[in-house]
Amino acid sequence: MDGATIAAIDALPDSGDAEHGLPWLAPGLIDLQVNGFGGVAFNSPMLSPDQVAQVSLSMDAHGVTGYCPTVTTDGWQTLAHSMATIGLAIRTIPAVAERVVGIHLEGPYICPDDGPRGAHPRPHVRAPDWDEFQRLQELAEGHIRIVTLSPEYEAAPAFIRRAVAQGVLVAIGHTNADSAQIRAAVDAGARLSTHLGNGAHGQIRRHPNYIWDQLAEDRLVASLIVDGHHLPPSVVKSFLRAKTPQRCILVSDITSMAGLPPGRYEDTSLGAVEVLDDGRLVIAGQQQLLAGAALPITAGLANVVRFTEHGLRVAVEMASLGPAALIGHPSGRLEVGSRADLTLFRLAISADGSQVGSVEIVATVRSGRLVWGELLGEPVDVPRG
Ligand SMILES: [Zn+2]
Repeated sequence: MDGATIAAIDALPDSGDAEHGLPWLAPGLIDLQVNGFGGVAFNSPMLSPDQVAQVSLSMDAHGVTGYCPTVTTDGWQTLAHSMATIGLAIRTIPAVAERVVGIHLEGPYICPDDGPRGAHPRPHVRAPDWDEFQRLQELAEGHIRIVTLSPEYEAAPAFIRRAVAQGVLVAIGHTNADSAQIRAAVDAGARLSTHLGNGAHGQIRRHPNYIWDQLAEDRLVASLIVDGHHLPPSVVKSFLRAKTPQRCILVSDITSMAGLPPGRYEDTSLGAVEVLDDGRLVIAGQQQLLAGAALPITAGLANVVRFTEHGLRVAVEMASLGPAALIGHPSGRLEVGSRADLTLFRLAISADGSQVGSVEIVATVRSGRLVWGELLGEPVDVPRG
């Protein structure tokens, strides 16, 4: 590395021992959907810039070098406070500015119905409102980079065109839109399906429906939560076949419960929730209703290898190159001249691919600086911090 840039790449000979050999080196991971971490929720009337910094720094331990703080459906006061606080944190705290690749506003312009609405609070769901979005974008100091909405509203196509003209990536999610509404949204510039297959009805007409429509639409990339709880292996495998890995990215969708021990937590933005022993995060007392995720994006790397015919390279690209390209971020590549955002990790995979361990991050390097863990082998001159 030369400063923040990859200066040269020399391939090492294969260590020949997957279990005890050298760790994998990959581009830093980019997570476009992080609702919070370690007890801090971005949806909070009490959110402080220091808490934004706390979540940002927590990403280092998971190999994530860039992420989107994600704010979900809420009342005006809370949305306004969250946007202003994150915007302020980006402006005043370098550790935040270096790690945040943009804010993701998920809602409040989504479907009000049980099922597609997911765990978003119904009283705060509303139709797309351009003036309100503009006020939020101003409070966020222009940092809203992704908006997830349902195109089932009459106002959606015009809203999408204006957002796209402003450089905002528009995602379809938490939707009950029909085929024509999805097509109109994509014609207007929508380019992402947010956590496809989740935020959906428990029962659905076999066809047509909004899942097939989005699967078949080649202009849409799909974000997938591959934590082992949100989508069964057969669905992950089928989605990757239908869309191709080039049109699939991984997101964690982790909430403030990530990084906390199993148990019941009363006072979250979604009301009472439970973290179960296996990492599943549910609305308290309703174990079928997921309330976001509690496992980091690295869980998805191992699960893609486990659930599909695709190897680790594809899985890594779905969590680095894919999301970086989608938002135009100069990261996600191991190439001379690229920004030195790197993660070094161990993942044991048996020779026949049938046994896959879990990802252990060894070190994270962001813009040429070691921000987490230790580099191995010969002492190298990499600045810390
Ligand atoms: Zn969601």
